[in-house]
Amino acid sequence: MPNIVKTTTFPGLLDLVAPHYCRGCGHIGEPICNRCKKYILNSNPNLCPICKKPNPTGICSNCSLPPTYIVGKRTDLLNAIIHDYKYNSVRALALPLAEMLNTRLPDLNGNVVIVPLPTISRHIRSRGLDHTFLLAKKLAKLHSNFKVSKLLQRNSNTVQVGSDHKTRITQANKAYKINPKINIKKDTTYILLDDVYTTGASLKSATEILKKNGVDKIVLAILALSILD
Ligand SMILES: [Zn+2]
Ligand SMILES: [Zn+2]
Repeated sequence: MPNIVKTTTFPGLLDLVAPHYCRGCGHIGEPICNRCKKYILNSNPNLCPICKKPNPTGICSNCSLPPTYIVGKRTDLLNAIIHDYKYNSVRALALPLAEMLNTRLPDLNGNVVIVPLPTISRHIRSRGLDHTFLLAKKLAKLHSNFKVSKLLQRNSNTVQVGSDHKTRITQANKAYKINPKINIKKDTTYILLDDVYTTGASLKSATEILKKNGVDKIVLAILALSILD
C-alpha cells in the first residue's frame, strides 16, 4: 500500500507551499492521485455499517437501514485524508473525496437532494470550513439532477467527542430538526451525507426526522466507517 505522507509537523504550512501533493504517494499534482484513489476504492468493499459485511448493493438483507454507501473503513490512507480535510481544512480534498463516494452510489434518477448532516457551528468557525456541506456541493456538481439543501439543523450544540456510547445516542436523538424555511419535496430522493459513521446514532436520528416529515426515499452516503467503536 502507499505510504501516508506525514503532515503532522506543520499541518497547513505544507499546504501553503505545495497544496497539491498526493497524500498517499507524495506525487506532485493532485491532493490524492488517481492511483491512490483506486487503491482506496479497490481495497475497500462497500460495507454495511451495522454488520460490517460487504454490501455490494448497498442494501443489507440482515440490517434495517436505508440503502447505504461508504467509501471504506476509517483506516490508513482514507483516515489520513479525512483528517487532513476536516481538521486541517484542506479544501482541495473535497472533490476527490466526493468523487470516491460518487463511485459507490447507484444511478439515482429524478430529483435528488443531498442533505449534509449539520456540523456544530463552533467547529465551522474554528476550522473555517463546513466540511460536510462543501463535500455535498462537490458531490452535487457531479450530477445535473443533484441539489444540496440545508434541510436539517442542529437543535443544540451537543458535542459527541468523548461522550460514552449511551450519552451519544441520547444526544443524537434530539440533535436535529427540520429547517422551517425549506419545504420537503415529493418524488425526491434524499441523500443523507455524513463524514464518519461511528455509532450510527446521528444518521439514525436524521433518518427518523426525515421519515416523520414524509420523506420515503432515503439513501445514506458516508465517507468512512469507524472501526474503533
Ligand atoms: Zn498517490
Ligand atoms: Zn448488515
